[in-house]
Amino acid sequence: MDQERFAKADNLAEDINEYFQKHQEDPDMIALKAQLQALVTGLDVRYSANIMLTLHVFDSKRGKTIDIFGVGLNAQPEGEPYLVTESDSFARYIVNGSITEIPHSYCPVCWAKCVFMKKGQECSSCGSSYGRNIKLLADNNECPNCLKGVISQEKPTCPECNFYADPDLVIWG
Ligand SMILES: [Zn+2]
Ligand SMILES: [Zn+2]
Repeated sequence: MDQERFAKADNLAEDINEYFQKHQEDPDMIALKAQLQALVTGLDVRYSANIMLTLHVFDSKRGKTIDIFGVGLNAQPEGEPYLVTESDSFARYIVNGSITEIPHSYCPVCWAKCVFMKKGQECSSCGSSYGRNIKLLADNNECPNCLKGVISQEKPTCPECNFYADPDLVIWG
């Protein structure tokens, strides 16, 4: 999977979300919601149940799955089922020289669950190191850590999340 494919997955996720939301009032969906609610009604409050429509990508060579997106319904013992979404922002990395875009919670090399937070942090699964063979790509002024703040080479600290675009960690595209 290259950067382009993950961008496609991101688009598909949006369409899945739209599809699911659009059909909330369909009679079949209303019947499903009633069944889901009936499943947990009267149980202790520690229980809940979900129906989810999810997009995962699996790599048999890595033996790992990346969860891209999920949308569904959650029901608690009291109340009505409500809409839930599960998603992760995408991070852009330079990995061993090439651009890789992947959800934030995964190692871009081996796809293990790994959230890189600070320089020198290693993936416990493949030993990749943040700042050595994995670097963040800043190809615009969007903070590559929170995707909200604005940073530049002149002002490398993000006002939103305090991320410092250490030159050992960030490559400016
Ligand atoms: Zn890894
Ligand atoms: Zn930031």
